[in-house]
Amino acid sequence: MATPKHYVVEHLDVELEAWSKLEYLTIATETRPASSTAATDSSNNPDNIKPTFHLTSLPRELFENLPEELKGHENLDATMEEVNKLDGLKAEEVCLLDPRAEKDMCPEDGEVFKWFVFGGILGDDPPRDRTAELRKYGFTGRRLGPVQMTTDTAVRVTRLVVEEKIPLDKVPFVDFPELKISKNETTEMPFRYVKREDGTPIMPEGMVDLIKEDSNKGFLDMM
Ligand code: SAM
Repeated sequence: MATPKHYVVEHLDVELEAWSKLEYLTIATETRPASSTAATDSSNNPDNIKPTFHLTSLPRELFENLPEELKGHENLDATMEEVNKLDGLKAEEVCLLDPRAEKDMCPEDGEVFKWFVFGGILGDDPPRDRTAELRKYGFTGRRLGPVQMTTDTAVRVTRLVVEEKIPLDKVPFVDFPELKISKNETTEMPFRYVKREDGTPIMPEGMVDLIKEDSNKGFLDMM
């Protein structure tokens, strides 16, 4: 059996926005190894029962008050430690998903890297390069193409490339989709998403409702 890959989101905000909570829940669920629910005997492969989604650098206040859905998720390891302190992590096996990296991610990277690190930041328009805060660790960087993605999309695309071995240019994308937020209004999301067969963007469950709510509050104008 292939060793499971680990996905790390280094949380870079002080608080946990409702958007990030939905993204993190989605990542925890999507990255859960199929075998983790089935395996009861871990003696031959301890990775089977270990979470593969790590949420690192949580401020104490947030760590101690993590929403129940996240705290109770079987595939979430939440910690106040920085990513480089994670148990079993070897720097040469770590890839930083970096929109400014020189090389794009390719399926062969799945043979080299076991850990994939992402910035736990809400996207901004135009992008402010907050991923820069993660370059201090010196991990090898890879880009997922030139367009900014949400964090859950970046994890989804990484998995398609390194686990499903789909080259980046074969992943179906939809850029800057328009969402209908009321009868007469639409809003454009300034991100790239993975496209479903029906042409709609894959988003965390509950995200469209949240976008509608925030949009009515004028929140999206601040992005
Ligand atoms: N505006 C952002 C910034 O300041 O860097 C991008 C943040 S994006 C919402 C969150 C994370 O997803 C990034 O830190 C990065 O790890 C990953 N990501 C998003 N788009 C990416 C891309 N095109 N290539 C590589 N990583 C990407």
